[in-house]
Amino acid sequence: MITLEEGLYEQNEEVKELNHINCPVCTSSDFIFLFDFNEDYSISKCQQCHSHFCSEMLTTVELENFYSADYFEGERGYANYFSEVDQRKKTFERKLKILAPMMAGIDATLEVGCANGLFVELARVKGYNIFGIDISTDSIHRSSSEVRKYLSASSIMEYKSDQLFKCIILFDTVEHLTSPRDAIAHLRGLLLDEGTIFIETPKLNSLLSIIMKRRWPYYRPPEHLIYFRTDSLDHMMGDLGFLKLKGGNSVKTLTLQYIYDEIKRTNPKIAFLLNFVLPFVGKMRLTLPTGSFWAIYQKRKR
Ligand SMILES: [Zn+2]
Repeated sequence: MITLEEGLYEQNEEVKELNHINCPVCTSSDFIFLFDFNEDYSISKCQQCHSHFCSEMLTTVELENFYSADYFEGERGYANYFSEVDQRKKTFERKLKILAPMMAGIDATLEVGCANGLFVELARVKGYNIFGIDISTDSIHRSSSEVRKYLSASSIMEYKSDQLFKCIILFDTVEHLTSPRDAIAHLRGLLLDEGTIFIETPKLNSLLSIIMKRRWPYYRPPEHLIYFRTDSLDHMMGDLGFLKLKGGNSVKTLTLQYIYDEIKRTNPKIAFLLNFVLPFVGKMRLTLPTGSFWAIYQKRKR
């Protein structure tokens, strides 16, 4: 029987039976129920690695349906992914600076969860040999015609390649996976010896998460299923045969209009107060910590 964690999430006094048998990050069976999310999903905490995760298992078919046409516009996914291209370009250019040393040379890089291929396109313009995959056929169809031939619609587990990659990139992707261990193990098989994996994901052990508790905006099942701490990701990657090279906190360049839209989705009352100033400052840009982190891991020889 699984009991409620005392303290942090004391409002919910239910005791729940969970679907998951093991923590998807460390495989421990020692975990507790934290709270219900929108009645349909529940969030649990692993007592071993302290990751949080959505306790409902989703099938690949359910996920593929979820990431269908309207995911990238509207309520479910990004507020409006494609109209925010400009601000995403600024963020990607910053990331490219971090990734450039790992991507340089003739061996290829693979971006997993590439959406409409914007990063692949930017990196290709700068001369990098990079490919992308995404589970959503629709988002691949929205890529520009120049980049489309470098993109494939595929789940990670079904993806096969004739070439091995020197670098694999997952921007805001690993938290969407039902079985991150299987996925990373599969990706490891696609890496050259001493190849690297770059992972960026919401940071459970961030100030934002600690302050906001269950209102932390990254709790967003069934999109986000797993909430990593920096150390729980390190442990998982260590288990799977990787050595950490470096890491840091993520920043993003955002317009105030975009920030307002995000606040409106999660905290309408606060958004109401901002209504009065928005017409004057909506187009301003800010570079802010996002509450996510990134880390680079290198494939170890077994
Ligand atoms: Zn765990």
